[in-house]
Amino acid sequence: VSLRLGILGNGQLGRMLAVCAHQLGIEPRVFGKASGPATDVTRASTLAPFDDEAALEAFAAGVDAVTYELEQLPVLALAAAARGAPVFPSALALATTQDRLLEKRFLLGQGLAVAPFAPLEEACDEAALAHDVGFPCLLKTRQGGYDGKGQRLVASAAELGAARRALGVPCVAERVVQLERELSLLAVRGRDGEVAFYDPVENQHEGGILRVSRAPAVIDESTLEALHRQVGELLEAFGYVGVLAVELFETPAGVLVNELAPRVHNSGHWTLEGAVTSQFENHVRAVMGLPLGRTASRGHSAMVNLVGSLPPLAALLAVPGAAVHLYGKSPAPGRKLGHVTLCAEAPLALEEGLLRLQALLP
Ligand code: AMP
Repeated sequence: VSLRLGILGNGQLGRMLAVCAHQLGIEPRVFGKASGPATDVTRASTLAPFDDEAALEAFAAGVDAVTYELEQLPVLALAAAARGAPVFPSALALATTQDRLLEKRFLLGQGLAVAPFAPLEEACDEAALAHDVGFPCLLKTRQGGYDGKGQRLVASAAELGAARRALGVPCVAERVVQLERELSLLAVRGRDGEVAFYDPVENQHEGGILRVSRAPAVIDESTLEALHRQVGELLEAFGYVGVLAVELFETPAGVLVNELAPRVHNSGHWTLEGAVTSQFENHVRAVMGLPLGRTASRGHSAMVNLVGSLPPLAALLAVPGAAVHLYGKSPAPGRKLGHVTLCAEAPLALEEGLLRLQALLP
C-alpha cells in the first residue's frame, strides 16, 4: 500500500509539494477551497471551505499525514484534520506565526532579536509608543498580512490614529530599521528531531513582493552559528516537523528576525535545482517520517519570480541553464505565476544569466 500525503491549500507551494511526493511514490491529496495549481496535479482532491470540520476529518482519515501550504488557515482546521491523521507542522507553530504579536514575543523568548515593537490596543499609549518604537514606524496588522499587505508607514504621532483606523484591526507598531540586506534561513526538522539548514539566502523585494533570491548568501560565521543554535531551539520548542522559513533583516546593529513562515517558502524555490534535496522534498520527507536529505548547495543559484505576466516560454527557455517552473495561474497584477532558477559554478556567471533573464521581465 503506497503512502499518502494530505496537503491543505491549493496554491503553487502545494503543487510543488505534490510533485515531489509523486516523485517519491507518495500519493498527494489536496484539500482546497477551489481548484488551483495544486489540485491541477493531483488525482484526488477535496474542495470545501477550511471551516468544514467534517470534510477535513474525512480528508485526513484517507491519508497517512497532513501538512499545509498556507498560513491563513484557521487553527481549528488543524484540530479537525488531526482527528484523522497526524498534522505537521504543529498547531502551536501555526497559531504563533499567524499573529505578529505572539510571534515577536515568542522570538524574544527564544533569544532572537526583533525590531523594537509595541502592540497597538484600543487605548494606545502614544508616549510609550514614541519612546519604545519611535517614528517613523510601520503599522502591521497582527493577522492576515502577506507580501507587504496590511501595512502602513506612520511618520508621526499625528498620523497614528488615521493609520490605525485605515487598517481597522489589531496591529503591531514596529520601528523602521535600516535594511542592509534581507536574508532568509530555511530549516527542516524531521519527526525524529533531526534538524538541517539550507545555506542562507539573500532576497530582493519590490512593492512588498519577493523578486529575486540568491544563494548561498555570505554571512559572518559566528552570526550563522548563533542563528542555527537559536532556530534549532525554536524548532524544538514548537515540536516542529517540516520546513520553517525565518525571514531576517541584516541591519547595522545586527541580524533581526522579521517573521517566520511555518511552511515551504518562496525564498527556498532555488533548492529545486540548487540544493542536493529541495525544500519541497525535505518537507515531504519530514512530515512522512522519512529520513531527511542533504541540504548542501550544488553551487551558486538565483531564483527570479515571474510576477503579474509571463514572458514567452521559448524566450525563458533560451536563457542558458534556466529551469522554468510555471504554476498554471492566470495573469493578474502582483500575482506570482512562476519562477525561474539559474545555477552556476561562480557568482559572476550567475549574474550574466540573471541580466538576460531580467531583460525578459516587464
Ligand atoms: P513583511 O510583510 O513584514 O515581510 O514586510 C514586507 C517588507 O517590508 C519587508 O520585506 C521589508 O522590505 C519591509 N519592512 C518590513 N518591516 C520593516 C521594518 N521594520 N523596517 C524596514 N523595512 C521593513
